[in-house]
Amino acid sequence: MDQPVNNKMTWKTILSRGIKRRCPKCGQGKVLKGYLTQEKSCTNCDEDLENIRADDGPAWMTILLTGHLLAPFIHYAIMHDSFPLQYELPIILAIATVTALALLPFCKGIFIAIIWFTRQKD
Ligand SMILES: [Zn+2]
Repeated sequence: MDQPVNNKMTWKTILSRGIKRRCPKCGQGKVLKGYLTQEKSCTNCDEDLENIRADDGPAWMTILLTGHLLAPFIHYAIMHDSFPLQYELPIILAIATVTALALLPFCKGIFIAIIWFTRQKD
């Protein structure tokens, strides 16, 4: 955090870097190693990432997005009674689990980027 923030940096840039799970400062280095483990510093520019703690934010965002993505399908399945409930429930739970696990790293990248960006001083 030694260098000043680029004045051209926008929320769009920050969110894009977060979704890509790239360093919010340089956009090149990774912020996650493996599935969810956070790097202590950027692998490219050595920006300190250790003090950024996303905590439960990514999980909250993942649950919110998963619920909103699956709600129309759940509503459709219930209203049209197309499958018996004993088949619907495991399928919905499996899809919800896979969706949540797929979204979680992206949400963590977004939270790390947002936290980094909001801490920057002009
Ligand atoms: Zn970097």
